[in-house]
Amino acid sequence: MINSELERIRRAREIILNILKKKGRKYLYDLTGMSGGFKLKRDDRDILDTYIGPAVFSERLDKVGLKHLGGDPNIHRAVGFNRTSSAILSTLMALSKEIEEVIHYLPERPSHPSIPRSCKLLDIPYFESDNINHIIERIDRNTLTVVTGATMDHKIIDLKHLREILNTCRERKSISFVDDASGARLRLLYNQPPALKLNANLVVTSTDKLMEGPRAGLLAGDRELIDNIYEEGLKYGLEAQGAILAAMVNALEDFKMERLREAFERARKIDLTPIHLLGIETERTPTGFALVSLSEEESVNLALKLLEKYGIITIPAVGMPGASKTFRIDLCSKDAYRISDQYIINGIVDSYREITSQ
Ligand SMILES: *Cc1c(COP(=O)(O)O)cnc(C)c1O
Repeated sequence: MINSELERIRRAREIILNILKKKGRKYLYDLTGMSGGFKLKRDDRDILDTYIGPAVFSERLDKVGLKHLGGDPNIHRAVGFNRTSSAILSTLMALSKEIEEVIHYLPERPSHPSIPRSCKLLDIPYFESDNINHIIERIDRNTLTVVTGATMDHKIIDLKHLREILNTCRERKSISFVDDASGARLRLLYNQPPALKLNANLVVTSTDKLMEGPRAGLLAGDRELIDNIYEEGLKYGLEAQGAILAAMVNALEDFKMERLREAFERARKIDLTPIHLLGIETERTPTGFALVSLSEEESVNLALKLLEKYGIITIPAVGMPGASKTFRIDLCSKDAYRISDQYIINGIVDSYREITSQ
C-alpha cells in the first residue's frame, strides 16, 4: 500500500535503480511521452559558463523557439524556464498586480496543478471551467485568460473554442495565455495552428513533452510581456541555465513532426482487445491510449508492477505530485520504438492480473 505521493515516487525510483544496476538502461522503456532528452554537441560544452552559456543559447532559443511556436521575430520573443510550471508561476507573478482574476478554460477538467497552485500562492482569485460559455462571459480587461491546448491526459481543445476565446480576449483587452505544454505539438497533429498565429499574447510549451528535450518550459509571446515575466523569473531563480538552454535549442532544432505522425499512426492501430477482455475501458489518445476505468490506486499499482516486471515507465508510477493518475501509454517516446505492441499489451494484461490476483 502506497500512502503518499513521495513514497510512490521513491518506490518507482528504487525499482528503476534496481533495473539499471542489474540489467542496464536498455531494459527500461520510458513510455510516458516525456523523454528528458539532453543533447549537447561537443562544442556546446566549452561555452556553458554561467554567463557565456545564456549569452549564446538564449539568442538561439529565441530564434528556434519562435519558429517552433509560430511566432513573429518582429513582435514576439521566446525565453527558457526550468519547467513549464516555473514559466507559469513567473507569468502570474509578473501580472499579479494588473489582474483581478485568472480564468482558465480547458477541454476537460481538472487543470494541471501548476496554475491553481500559483494563483493560491499569489492570492489571485481563480476560476476554471470546461464550459466555454462560463469562460466567455467572464473575460474582461481585468482577467488573465488561460487556455489549455491539450490536457495532461491529452484531450485536445476544439479549435472553434480556442479561436472564440482568443478573439474575445482581443476584443475585451484581456491578456491571453495558452498552456500548450503538450498541445503545441499535439494540436498540430489535428492541423490546428500554433497559438501565436491565432493571436494569443503568450504561450508556453514543455520541451520534454512529445519531443526529445529536457524538462523545461519554453515561453513565447508579445515582447514587452515576455521581458517583464523573464525579469520576474530571474529574481526568483526560475529561469533555465546555460546547459538547459543548450539542450532545449538542440531538441528544438532536431524536432521532427514525422516522428510524431508515426506514433499517431501506430496508436490508431494498436489492438487493445486483450485489455478489454479484462473488463477495462480504454480511450485512444493522439499518440497512445489510456485505461480510463481504473481507480487511482489501481493505476498506481499497475504502473509500479509493470515497471518492476517489464521495465515500462508510466506516469502513475513516476509522475510529480498532483499529476494525473490516469494510466497512459505514449508511443512517441523514443523507447517505444524498441518494443512491440505485443510486449506492451502483454505486460499490461499480466501485471493487471497480478495486482488483482486474477
Ligand atoms: C506538463 C504540464 C504542465 C507542467 O509541466 P512541468 O514541466 O511539469 O512543469 C503544465 N500544464 C500542462 C497542461 C501540462 O501538461
